[in-house]
Formats: sequence, C-alpha cells, structure tokens
Amino acid sequence: MAELRFFFGTMGSGKSTQALQIRHNIAARGLSVILTTQLDRQAGKVSSRLGVAAEAEIVDHDVDLFALARSAYNKGGLHAMVCDEAQFYEPRQIDQLSRVVDELDVEVYAFGLLTSFQGELFPGTKRLLELADVRSELQVEARCWCGARATHNARLVNGVQVYSGALKVVGDTAIDEPEEAPEVTYDLRCRRHWHEGLRQRQGDQLELLDERDDAPALKAQTQQEQEPANT
Ligand SMILES: [Zn+2]
Repeated sequence: MAELRFFFGTMGSGKSTQALQIRHNIAARGLSVILTTQLDRQAGKVSSRLGVAAEAEIVDHDVDLFALARSAYNKGGLHAMVCDEAQFYEPRQIDQLSRVVDELDVEVYAFGLLTSFQGELFPGTKRLLELADVRSELQVEARCWCGARATHNARLVNGVQVYSGALKVVGDTAIDEPEEAPEVTYDLRCRRHWHEGLRQRQGDQLELLDERDDAPALKAQTQQEQEPANT
C-alpha cells in the first residue's frame, strides 16, 4: 500500500537534494514519477538552488494535485509524486495528496520546512503533519553560528532579523528604485539564538531579567556573533 511520507528540515538540510535523488531513483527503474515544486521568486534562498524548477510542475494555489496525478495515472500509470517546497502548498492541496495515496495507490514523498521565520508551522506543513503516514526529520548537519544544531529559519532584512511580514516574500513588489529595495536573506539558528533577536527588540526590561539569570553565558556567546554564519 502506498504511503504519504513527509520529510522536513531547516533550509540547507538537503530537502531538494533528497527530492531529486528519490525522483531519479524511481525514474531509473523505468517508473513514472511527477516532481512538483513551489517556486519562490525572491532572490532569498528558499528554493531553486538546485534548479529543480527546470523539470518540475509548478504548484500554483489553484492546481488540483489529485487531478494532476489522476491524469498521469490514466495516461500510462503513475508510481509516485515527489513534492518539494511543500510548506507552501495550500492545506487543501495536501488533502489532495492524501487522496493520491488512498485512491490511486501512488506513493507521495513531500519535502518541506517545519516552521517559518516567525517560528510557527506553515499551513501546508501543519496539514502534512496531520495527514502523513510517515513523518521524518532530515538529519543533516545544519548548524547555528554558535555550533548548536540549527532548528529555526531566521529572515534578515538588511541584516537585521525580523519576526513579522509576509509569510512568503515575492520579489516584484512595487518599489520604484531597485537599489532601495531591502535585502532579504535567510539564516539558520538554534532556538536560543533565533529567539535572541526578539529579546533584544523587547528592550532593556528583558535585559535586566537576563542579568539575573544566565547573563554571563549569554553575553559571552553574543560576542561571537561576528563570526560568519556559514561553514
Ligand atoms: Zn545558536
């Protein structure tokens, strides 16, 4: 019996690489497979580092994934669907994927981020956790600058971590002067350091609380923050 499998991890945990590998392995056996993705047009780095788009179906919000799969199934059979960037899919599209498994007996491998830069589940991810037969965290050595395992994605606007804004940043917003457009980047953090920017924003009052608690350790680590984040 087919299963709906959800693989999740932070950015840089190799989701797209795994998705491409699974697709390749299935196709190499002569079986039919559909690869889907959800492109982020922003130059950030949520997607497309591996050029998945070139050979993938783009999942717009109005795409019916069950109809897509059924069409391929009726034409010549379908063995599996491999779905990248699944955190951006609509919850109803995740339901459609579960129908692909249950009604067509087609394997579905979905890959996505667990939480957004706001530290909360993406709607598509939430639905995947609710419906998947198998939920698996990718164990890749993604690290915070401090060396701890990175579990959170931080969004930086002109180098400063932000906690609010659109869930998905799209590139072509109406800004007349391109050079004035803020630079949006993403970085990996452990939970502690993902929270740290928020606490700094909350000002002196929280800092006073920190003095009472584990301030020395926190201060010492903060001084290392100049180190480049990537390894
Ligand atoms: Zn850290």
